[in-house]
Amino acid sequence: MFFPRKRHSLSSFILRPSSLLLLLCLACGNRKDGAADASGEEASSKPAVTYPAFDQTRAFAHLEQQVGFGPRFPGSPGHEQAKAFLKQTLGRWANRLIVQEFTEASEGVTLHLTNIVGVITARTSPAKRVVLGAHWDTRPEASQESVPSSRARPIIGANDGASGVAILLEVAAVLAAQRPDVEVVIVLFDGEDYGGIKGFEYSLGASRFVSEMELRGVKPDWMILIDMVGDSDLRILKEPGSTGWLVDLIWAAAPRVQADAFVPDTYPSAIIDDHVPFLRAGIPAVDLIDFDYPFWHRLDDTADKCSPASLKQVGDVLLRVVYQELK
Ligand SMILES: [Zn+2]
Repeated sequence: MFFPRKRHSLSSFILRPSSLLLLLCLACGNRKDGAADASGEEASSKPAVTYPAFDQTRAFAHLEQQVGFGPRFPGSPGHEQAKAFLKQTLGRWANRLIVQEFTEASEGVTLHLTNIVGVITARTSPAKRVVLGAHWDTRPEASQESVPSSRARPIIGANDGASGVAILLEVAAVLAAQRPDVEVVIVLFDGEDYGGIKGFEYSLGASRFVSEMELRGVKPDWMILIDMVGDSDLRILKEPGSTGWLVDLIWAAAPRVQADAFVPDTYPSAIIDDHVPFLRAGIPAVDLIDFDYPFWHRLDDTADKCSPASLKQVGDVLLRVVYQELK
């Protein structure tokens, strides 16, 4: 998640760099036009489904394990270690693991990147398909530090990186224990957070995933991104670039699992994140993000700023949406 490099043609995706600075939202595209279709019906219109509980302790252990590898930007030792860990861990629960390796080059630098994709097939087929995504790389520079020497150092990314992945790993474990009615494609994106460095764009992994998907003629029905969702003071506002009816569906589900971190406010401007390539491909997509995080792109984005209870709120909402609301 990041500052805009350019205006997007879909709408103007702009970021709020701090809660003090309100940027103008241009044509935010908060669409309501899907409200009447099957996916936009009021939450919980399906018979109640029971499913295993989200284990917040195990989820937090997944966060700590990633942080234990150190900074995980492309080319770092931590990146290699995290990749091995994620392939092994997601591979344990997915029916199919797809490792999407690719390179991106800019200004004489080549990044070796890997999207790690776990498919959890539906209970019955044919089934609709939802992509649940989070980025697993961390930013190579602490761009928000005030001291230049600190700014050049890489972040640990406990919240900005590890939190979303930790939740998705635990979600995968639950889904594997009891398969849902929809197919779930868990995508751990690489290369989200190299943007603006050495001429690289943001969302390299998400863009690659979407273009490969389009090449193969595959189109998921929905996409939900989670990013920076481990903050112990968690408050998730609606992101105005996201697909409105899918936002409404998620916010209707949240109180049903006591997820009060999902507050009924909206960010003043759209946020550029890994959901944008999906939106541009015509896929309803939502970014779940708590952008009011004082340690964003700073060296002290560490595990002590995150909490198991926050991971659980988001995990509970995702499970509720997958098992109960999407159809
Ligand atoms: Zn970031």
